[in-house]
Amino acid sequence: MSGLRGRCLCGAVRVVGEGPTLFASHCHCETCRRTHAAAFVTWTAWPVERFRVEGEAALRHHVSSPGVTRSFCGTCGTPMTFRGQDAPDRVYVPVAVLDGLDRPVDAHVSYEEHAAWLEGLERLPCFAEKSERPLRWK
Ligand SMILES: [Zn+2]
Ligand SMILES: [Zn+2]
Repeated sequence: MSGLRGRCLCGAVRVVGEGPTLFASHCHCETCRRTHAAAFVTWTAWPVERFRVEGEAALRHHVSSPGVTRSFCGTCGTPMTFRGQDAPDRVYVPVAVLDGLDRPVDAHVSYEEHAAWLEGLERLPCFAEKSERPLRWK
């Protein structure tokens, strides 16, 4: 069966999702932004029966809001999963920890909470790596 693999930065926690993902979207909610210390978080999900964690002993969990449990690697801190009582049959995974994605990201969610400083993202110049050498200009 086709699937996707992922891992935290240090590799202590690895994830495997079998078969197609259920969706992919960018979440702009404040809780995601703060938990991941990021401008927004791109999520996908699998049904629990098609998802597994390897190296689970390294995972730490915290309740980020009522009914929501998030996990992260206790060694390197990478956020790894999201489980919610609203959808107990799925495990949400940040796409950034995966080696790829099987579908286009097709939506922004909780966009009303987006960081004000994210405005103009599409208009910014793009540089190669961390240099000031232009990669492309929009
Ligand atoms: Zn780690
Ligand atoms: Zn969110």
